[in-house]
Order: sequence, then C-alpha cells, then structure tokens
Amino acid sequence: MNTTRSQELFSAAQKLMPGGVSSPVRAFRSVGGNPIVFERVKGAYAWDVDGNRYIDYIGSWGPAICGHSHPEVIAALHEALDHGTSFGAPCELENQLAELVIEAVPSVQMVRFVNSGTEACMSVLRLMRAFTGREKIIKFEGCYHGHADMFLVKAGSGVATLGLPDSPGVPRSTAASTLTAPYNDLEAVKKLFAENPGEIAGVILEPVVGNAGFIPPVPGFLEGIREVTKENGALLVFDEVMTGFRISYGGAQAKFGVTPDLTTMGKVIGGGLPVGAYGGRADIMAMVAPAGPMYQAGTLSGNPLAMTAGIKTLELLQRPGTYERLDAITKRLIAGILDAAGDAGLPICGGSISAMFGFFLTKGPVRNFEEAKAADAARFGKLHRAMLERGVYLAPSAFEAGFTSLAHSDADIDTTIAAFRESFAAVA
Ligand SMILES: *Cc1c(COP(=O)(O)O)cnc(C)c1O
Repeated sequence: MNTTRSQELFSAAQKLMPGGVSSPVRAFRSVGGNPIVFERVKGAYAWDVDGNRYIDYIGSWGPAICGHSHPEVIAALHEALDHGTSFGAPCELENQLAELVIEAVPSVQMVRFVNSGTEACMSVLRLMRAFTGREKIIKFEGCYHGHADMFLVKAGSGVATLGLPDSPGVPRSTAASTLTAPYNDLEAVKKLFAENPGEIAGVILEPVVGNAGFIPPVPGFLEGIREVTKENGALLVFDEVMTGFRISYGGAQAKFGVTPDLTTMGKVIGGGLPVGAYGGRADIMAMVAPAGPMYQAGTLSGNPLAMTAGIKTLELLQRPGTYERLDAITKRLIAGILDAAGDAGLPICGGSISAMFGFFLTKGPVRNFEEAKAADAARFGKLHRAMLERGVYLAPSAFEAGFTSLAHSDADIDTTIAAFRESFAAVA
C-alpha cells in the first residue's frame, strides 16, 4: 500500500498544528505509524490522498450512520446553501429538528441546540448545578463527556490512550467536584451518595460506553442509577452523543426503557455537520436563558446547514427496517470477528447493539474500564495496521467502539471478516 502523499501531508501538518491534527485520537499515537490523510468519503468508504480505498468503521466517529455523503443529505444541503450559511436569528429548521428529537427521545420535552457534544455536556453540567443548587457530580471511569474541565477526570479513550490520567490546566478545585465510580458498579454510586449527602447535583453516564471500548450496561445498572438519583434528589443525565439515534431511533433510553432527566446528543443529529444538543424535562429546561437564569449561548447554534443535515438524516433513519438492518449486519460482523480471533488462538471478547460494536483482545468479561485495560493494546496496534493494509479502517485505539452504517453492504461485511481472518493470523 502506497501512502507517500499521506506521509508528506502529515509531516507538513506537524509543523502547522499540534501533533499534526485537529483532534488527538486521529494521530494514531496508540496504534503506531502515521495517520492516513483522507481525500473524500462516500457511502461505507473513505479514499485517502494516495488513492487507496478503505471500508470505514468509524463513520466520522459516529455521524455517518446513513453512510457518508448520503445523496439526499447532500441534495438538501445544496438547497439550503442557496438560502445562506448562517442566520444568527431563529429559523424554521430549528423547529423541525427540535420536533423530531422531542418525538424520538423519551426524556426530551424541550431541547437547546449547540455546536458539539462537548458543548452539550458542559452546558448540561451547568444546568444540573443550576437546577439542584448543588456542585458535585458523579461520572464513571472511562466515560468521555467532551473536554470541558469538569469531565477530564478518568475520561476514557483519548486521554487514556495518551496516558494522561488528568489534563494539566484543569484546576484542582474543579476536578475535586467530580466524583468517579467504576462503570456497572451500583454499590460504588450508592456509597458516594452516602458520603456526600445533599451535595451531589447528579450522575452523568454513557448508557452504553463507547469511549473505553464497547461496554454495555449490565442488567439492572441503568435502572439502579435511576432509582438512586431519584431517592437523593439528584438528576440523571444520559450522554447519548454517541448512542443517540444509533442504539435505536430513541437512543439507549428507548432501548433499555430507562428515562433520564436530561440527555445530551451530538454526532448523528448533525448528519455530519457540527451539531450538539441537550434537552430533557420541561421544568428543568425552563432554567435555560432566556426562559430562565442559566446562561448559555452560541453564535452559530441552530445553524441552518447543520439543522438541514440533521433533519434529513433523522428522516432517513425513520424508514422501516433501518435498525433491523443495522443490527443484523453488525451482529454478523462481530460474530465473524470473534470467530476469526478464536481460530487464530487469540483471547477476545466483544459484542454489538444495533450499529455500535467493539471487541477487546482479552478473554473478558469486560464490564468497566479497569477490566478493559487488560486488553492487549500492543497487539491491537499491529492488528490495526494489518487491517489498514487490507483496506479496512478501524478506530486507531484499542479503547473505541466501532460503527456500521446503512451503506455497509453484505459484501463489505464479508470482505471485512476475511480481512480480520488474515490479520488475526498475522498478529497471533
Ligand atoms: C464524542 C462524544 C462527546 C463529545 O462530542 P464532540 O462533538 O466531540 O465535542 C461527548 N460524549 C460522548 C459520549 C461522545 O461520544
């Protein structure tokens, strides 16, 4: 595989931007080698600047659930462009996307649009504190909620991959208000509530973890957190930036039947353009300015192009059979991966829910980040490279979930499984 042009561009980029990238995990630090520079994406594929084609299982880290550059999304964007790129004033498209989100996501009665998942999570944190008048929050080890100060404590793949337990620049006093517990450990959460009576504003979690690798909740965990937050007058926030409209049309909360007080979203709801959102109970959302006193604003929030891509993407997802199809191909993919590793004599565990999957190179089970760290990251790095050489683009970290899309054909899945067979054999 020739990647000369990618190497040249990345060398140049390293002098222009820190680490040569605009977001850390893209830099391939944890898998070794240099990143591939993309030229274009379409459907299930990405092409690099040297003309190599890859079957893509990152999908721009989540948004591309209908496949990259879906013709209907692109057509809607062309039309929207003629009306202008930014209004800085209300537009009807915001109503349309808000209605779609409110109708789909059980906890959401009102919604505020922002520009990224990070922004959604930092805003929801302020809202939790404003509503409860309390300062402490509980998050889980390995869960990522964007890069705001309060969340950069045991924050999953990006930071874990770089070996930064916390980030310099985060005030100690800020981090001190963030309490952490192991994922899937209800007792640890109960203990934190007992030790901090009347001080905890709420609990935020990924209802299915994707940022420490793929880790589903054990039965009863989400229900238990719902109960313990209610008992303690604290709020429950599901960070569905990754799982929203991916685990099911109504997100993980619809799938598991547990309704949080507030929800953060991003990725899929922007259809490939920069969008985040937070929403929830109307009485809590009434705190948000200008309806209420909690300030939060954005120059480009509710941007007409971003709203257009989101609306069209959700409309596509509403078509019958969408989630059955996603579930079926993803199940087949992960079964093929587990079989192939087993045949190569490698320890592995993994699974999938709808269009989200993941595996760890350890025998498992993996129920939290501590257990995930038992995975063989060095071997994953070799596997990652072997897969790239065979035209399959996986997330460049042993601690990231993978994503399928409606554009992945049965043949793509077969090709991918065959590539895994060869690659596992090569790294065993
Ligand atoms: C990606 C992600 C975020 C951050 O979203 P950005 O748009 O990258 O700022 C927050 N929470 C979860 C669960 C995510 O997966």
